[in-house]
Amino acid sequence: AVDIQLENVTKRYSNTKQPAVRDFSMDIRAGEIVVFVGPSGCGKTTTMKMINRLIEPSSGTITIGGQDALSLDPDELRRRIGYAIQQAGLFPHLTVGQNIGMVPGLLGWPKPRIHARVEEMLDLVGMDPAEFRDRFPRQLSGGQQQRVGVARALAADPPVLLMDEPFGAVDPITRGNLQDELLSLQSELHKTIVFVTHDFDEAVKLGDRIAVLGPQSSILQFDTPEAILAA
Ligand code: ADP
Ligand code: ADP
Repeated sequence: AVDIQLENVTKRYSNTKQPAVRDFSMDIRAGEIVVFVGPSGCGKTTTMKMINRLIEPSSGTITIGGQDALSLDPDELRRRIGYAIQQAGLFPHLTVGQNIGMVPGLLGWPKPRIHARVEEMLDLVGMDPAEFRDRFPRQLSGGQQQRVGVARALAADPPVLLMDEPFGAVDPITRGNLQDELLSLQSELHKTIVFVTHDFDEAVKLGDRIAVLGPQSSILQFDTPEAILAA
């Protein structure tokens, strides 16, 4: 089943000549990892933000689970989509537990359920809840912050996960470990994942399908890693 559908999506920022994204169409299936790979400035983040309704397309439509993204209210979006970004994007004045529990809290989960969920999520990303729950982000290594970022994106169990260079800020060894963990998580969770990177090796390792993007998010290739490597 198609889970995310973009149809002729264009985004033109107000003060620019060229659109950041031009006439972008793609079907993303439920349960697959699609990786967007392309150079800096080609419009990857803009496309992710449009899927997540952080910005609106200038034209075109985006549907999530068959529903027009523009018709989803903020709570519905939080339920459907988890978002993990480079540098983890953790709130520095909130503890690890508060960061992970934030979306469930906004969705009105009762406190005991949130606390249990925070522990479960820390276990899932390989961090001891007793050791890490009450730390602040600055008391974590870069790799640990990225793990918490992923735990936070998964906390409300959204069917869709958008990951925008989520492992961009860590050393190569930690990055390899985080990639392995994501693949092992995915073998249990079967999320629909859109993953942005500028690293082709990362795309090949993680993607069920890879979209190789050029300027203005033009789709140069969109296929399995095997097919792209063979081309
Ligand atoms: P990528 O994620 O592939 O690096 P972006 O989506 O961040 O690319 O940017 C695509 C293009 O849109 C770039 O040319 C960038 O300068 C431009 N852009 C991004 N955000 C804005 C903005 N808020 N206002 C104007 N131009 C922007
Ligand atoms: P990295 O290997 O990414 O450079 P760090 O040297 O920042 O990692 O941290 C190494 C270990 O020390 C990690 O387990 C981290 O959680 C812990 N740590 C780092 N800073 C603090 C701090 N201010 N308080 C408590 N523990 C910390």
